[in-house]
Amino acid sequence: MTTLHIPKPIVEAMRTHGEETYPHECCGVLLGHPTPDGWRVASAVRAGNTRSDSAHNRYHIAPLELVKIQREATKQGLDIAGFYHSHPDHPAQWSPTDFAEAHWIGCSYVITEVAHGTARATNSFLLAGMTEEDKHFENETIAIGE
Ligand SMILES: [Zn+2]
Repeated sequence: MTTLHIPKPIVEAMRTHGEETYPHECCGVLLGHPTPDGWRVASAVRAGNTRSDSAHNRYHIAPLELVKIQREATKQGLDIAGFYHSHPDHPAQWSPTDFAEAHWIGCSYVITEVAHGTARATNSFLLAGMTEEDKHFENETIAIGE
């Protein structure tokens, strides 16, 4: 099992983001460094939720916005470590839609349950596999640091 190493202030920022956008989903990008057992997160970047059709259960980061975030990350010597979003009034487990829309193999996907406006569980899943055909989510441990 891999581990997502993440400083406490970044965990809190993700969870607060989900509370702020409740009852809609929030989403964002995690930047960091790869380690042999999982990503070491250095920062989180908030992204706009462009799924105006059903923002309460869908999230999407505009390709142009993602390109900008990736360019900034490269400047800082960081990689895209993963993505985070919230599940308003739903468990912190990936949905079939989350799986279908996950394409960054090797990245971590972090989900926070926000129940009645309050952040509850936060879980992380590694998108493992070699190709789009054999990709799959694996549970990973979250190690919260200072
Ligand atoms: Zn989701």
